[in-house]
Amino acid sequence: MPSDPVLLVHGGAWAIPDDMVEAHLNGVRGAIAAGWQVLQQGGAALDAVEEAVVVMEDDETFDAGRGSFLNRDGKVQLDALIMDGATLRAGGVGCVERIANPVRAACKILSDSPHVYFVAQGAEQFAAEHGIPLCKNEDLIIPREVERLREFQARAAEQNQDLFAPAISHDTVGAVALDRDGNIAAATSTGGTLNKAPGRLGDSSLIGCGCYADNRTAAASTTGWGEPIMKLVLGKWAADRVASGSLPEWIAAEAINYLESRVNGHGGIILLDARGRFGIAHNTPRMAWGLKTVAQEEIGIERKP
Ligand code: ASP
Repeated sequence: MPSDPVLLVHGGAWAIPDDMVEAHLNGVRGAIAAGWQVLQQGGAALDAVEEAVVVMEDDETFDAGRGSFLNRDGKVQLDALIMDGATLRAGGVGCVERIANPVRAACKILSDSPHVYFVAQGAEQFAAEHGIPLCKNEDLIIPREVERLREFQARAAEQNQDLFAPAISHDTVGAVALDRDGNIAAATSTGGTLNKAPGRLGDSSLIGCGCYADNRTAAASTTGWGEPIMKLVLGKWAADRVASGSLPEWIAAEAINYLESRVNGHGGIILLDARGRFGIAHNTPRMAWGLKTVAQEEIGIERKP
């Protein structure tokens, strides 16, 4: 069914400090511009979410692509998933260390592989064989993050620090879109949590957890403390409730309430259905988000209920 396009993006939900607000707003603005260009020209929701996420992976502000948080060993390990609501095809990569734009690799898996998910060297090999350039892990590491990890590990050694306090993380990026053909799609990309154990995979790239899309229900992308989100399979939980008739606006808020009340989690979600109805919610002090429809463009750092 022909539709007016809609695009929503997020750039992480946490206590984004005042001096980083502008960079986050610029980042989501750039992502909206890239995704909207695709939608405006009649392109697919799938391509729009890929392009929007690539912009934020390339932006060192966010915990995705270059500039991501470092794991315990001082390496960048990236996870990403993309999903097409029209066909339910999905592609995901986990724990990749040599791909600057993991969402591109995820998209190649979606389009060119009978499989849905590749990890580590196997994912890198698949990407290289499908024309995606590999880089060195050092190319993804920036001095700010080396310093952040050093400080964190020094403090953690001194005191029993809460690894997942919202002040420390979470800067994952994501997008959901509706195109002119009435199809929806979602994509999420992350460097995961600061000081994570090598090989640790979060919610972001797990189908139904950090990312989900089905034309019959909704497209969702989450950010926040991954382990609680995974336990609730929150993206699919929210999408399924939209199918039962409730407004995405309410379901997004309900999903975050459920996350907090059931498993003491924190984070944020963007949700969009194939009718163009959407929801944005978070229980962290801030979440960078952007929204574009034919009638409006809004960028924010906090979403009041
Ligand atoms: N959800 C991500 C993870 O746990 C972190 C984030 O959203 O920034 O890997």
